[in-house]
Amino acid sequence: MDEALKYKAASCWERYGSAGDRAAMDGLAGEFLDFLTRCKTERETIAWAMEQGAAAGFSGDLSGGLAMIPFRSKALLLARRGSAPLSRGLRLITAHVDTPHLDLKQHPLHEECQVALMKTHYYGGIKKYQWLARSLALHGTVVTTDGRIIGVCIGESQDDPVFTVLDLLPHLARKQREETVEKAFVGEKLNLAFGHEPASTEDEAKVRQRVLELLHERFGIREEDLFSAELQVVPAGRARFVGLDRALLGGYGQDDRLCVFTATRAFLDAPAGEHTQVLLLFDKEEIGSDGATSAKSRFMEHALADILDAWEPGTALRHVLTRTKAVSADVHCPMDPDYQDVHDKYNSSLLGFGPVFSKFTGHGGKYGASEADCEYVAWFRALLAQEGIPWQMAEMGKVDEGGGGTVAKDLAVYGMEIIDFGPGVLSMHSPFEISSKADLYATVKAYNAFYRS
Ligand code: MN
Ligand code: MN
Repeated sequence: MDEALKYKAASCWERYGSAGDRAAMDGLAGEFLDFLTRCKTERETIAWAMEQGAAAGFSGDLSGGLAMIPFRSKALLLARRGSAPLSRGLRLITAHVDTPHLDLKQHPLHEECQVALMKTHYYGGIKKYQWLARSLALHGTVVTTDGRIIGVCIGESQDDPVFTVLDLLPHLARKQREETVEKAFVGEKLNLAFGHEPASTEDEAKVRQRVLELLHERFGIREEDLFSAELQVVPAGRARFVGLDRALLGGYGQDDRLCVFTATRAFLDAPAGEHTQVLLLFDKEEIGSDGATSAKSRFMEHALADILDAWEPGTALRHVLTRTKAVSADVHCPMDPDYQDVHDKYNSSLLGFGPVFSKFTGHGGKYGASEADCEYVAWFRALLAQEGIPWQMAEMGKVDEGGGGTVAKDLAVYGMEIIDFGPGVLSMHSPFEISSKADLYATVKAYNAFYRS
């Protein structure tokens, strides 16, 4: 009787210990690392999701039951029509495709001390020192006034050079060491070393000139084209297995591409069910979800209105949304072995024990939070119990230790039932985030069960 009353957390490693599960887990992890290696920007991630959708028969032709509605290459809605009327509500999972990075400024290129530099403006919550003295790549899109759209990706192939933000030598860092971290690392000093060889010109800034020549040779662009460009500095190189047992997954952008990958995989693997299933990918979560492609935009409303017109004219969107069950698929912060003191150990999660429910986010007395109600959480627990999928329930850290937000509150305003539910990531927002191979596997199963519910 004692045992039946007590809650016992289930390890994904034990739950998925069979040879078949372990082989499937390894295969999935390999695919995920390839995805992380390829998708380092919003546009690259949406392009990948659209390829996956198109291969599964999703298209902009809304007369069928498989809809694919992209918006400005940075947001995407996929929907699979269910057998029940739309007014019975959707099964919707949303994740965000943006990740913290450095953007090039509009006038990025300058030259100091025989080094050409690109000025940057950081995007999202970064610890600035993590971006110094490491190899970086440049990804993005340049559009010229004659309408050419030029994809840029430098620093990923073996033959390509990489870039770096220079750091101060310890010998001369006495003053810096005495500063607080916040003051010691300054946004304006996050400049990218971009060239060193002078051009054969009479010009003053010869190194700068040489960089312009090379950009023109390779991409056919002029300096003014940089003013409108979207060029992002991201960590260079492959995502990798971490640990002698290859059980951890290391790579840039797992907040929130870990959820983009698992949700997309779960969505595409799911058969058509009773409820219409929706996968919704947003941009700009890391900077407050403002703008045309964010969760606060009208994109979801507009896309669903088009789907209603095509599939069930006359049904009111509000009736669909208030009966919708949704998951805000975003990563969670499990106990960090080296910083356990910031967590409340009774209300935290562990890597390897499955995706984590976060009933609310916010900070300081739940300020700025939307909170899932007990009816919905109980429904979800029952669903996962049915399939024996490990899951956890946790808060983000100790009370008043900090906090954070997700898009859950932006969708909760429509009256849908929504909860944050996603796998744990260590070193979150760093250039090399860490997740668990076992959690990856369990999360796909959990999201898939949700779509089939
Ligand atoms: Mn996130
Ligand atoms: Mn984040």
